[in-house]
Amino acid sequence: MSEKFKFLYSTEKKIFILCLLFKFIQSGVCSYGDRSNAFQNCMHWCGIKNCSNSTQLADFETNRPWYMTVLQWECWDECDYYCMWHTVKVFQYNGQGIPQFHGKWPFYRFCGIQEPASMIFSLLNGLVHFYMWKKFRSTVPKCPFSSVWNIQALLSVNAWFWSAVFHTRDVPLTEKLDYFCAFSMVLYSFYSLLNVIPQLKDISSGLLNSFGWLMWCYKHRHKHYVWKCAASVIAVNLLLLLELCDFPPWKFIIDAHALWHFGTIPVPFLWYSFLIEDCLNEMKDLGLCINLVKKMG
Ligand SMILES: [Zn+2]
Repeated sequence: MSEKFKFLYSTEKKIFILCLLFKFIQSGVCSYGDRSNAFQNCMHWCGIKNCSNSTQLADFETNRPWYMTVLQWECWDECDYYCMWHTVKVFQYNGQGIPQFHGKWPFYRFCGIQEPASMIFSLLNGLVHFYMWKKFRSTVPKCPFSSVWNIQALLSVNAWFWSAVFHTRDVPLTEKLDYFCAFSMVLYSFYSLLNVIPQLKDISSGLLNSFGWLMWCYKHRHKHYVWKCAASVIAVNLLLLLELCDFPPWKFIIDAHALWHFGTIPVPFLWYSFLIEDCLNEMKDLGLCINLVKKMG
């Protein structure tokens, strides 16, 4: 099991950190859409017409549906959303491409949920992790590294929960929670790697870990379940590449990021299934060793 930690987590860590940096940079800048005259003028007039005095604001709050209140859609947020679509129409009318706004593509909102597809896919990821973790616990109550995998599973469920929250409502707090909780999975993996298997400190950085992990699979190909591990690694790495693709959302619903969240849903089925079989295999080997020692004793 020890080599597996090294290869899996170091690979994901590097790609994931790149993606997080990319997202941070992306979210911190203005975009073509919100810099445009169409958007700026729209915001100016929308603000004057709807959000410029206490009477208007009180009127806005009275007429706001309850779920919009819960999700804290304020008057200026509504102007931002309205002006985003106004600007999209202007761009389309002028034969220009779909612009981004505040570092993001425009998405249709549903019941106040900003990115419904990514939100649903994040929830499904969290549920699959939780379901497979329960299965892992019930099938393999004890395993040399079960506590590591238990914490890893909890961090995964937590990260996907905050991912769903972030895609429901993108504000600075939910954005940070999403990124930091996702990052916590990576950091914990690295931490556990170095603490559970200290001898890996000498080799755990700087290797081409995807290839290494696949080489591990090749080396252990006689174990009938190893293909699940290889498939998980290949799938995660291929899907992460989606984060580097950037295209306007299909029907203003599904973009590359939503596809990445969709694609990762089945991966925990494979990964936990691999863990279960490998733990059972290790327990079997351990049992054989104990019996052998008893016989020799
Ligand atoms: Zn996301």
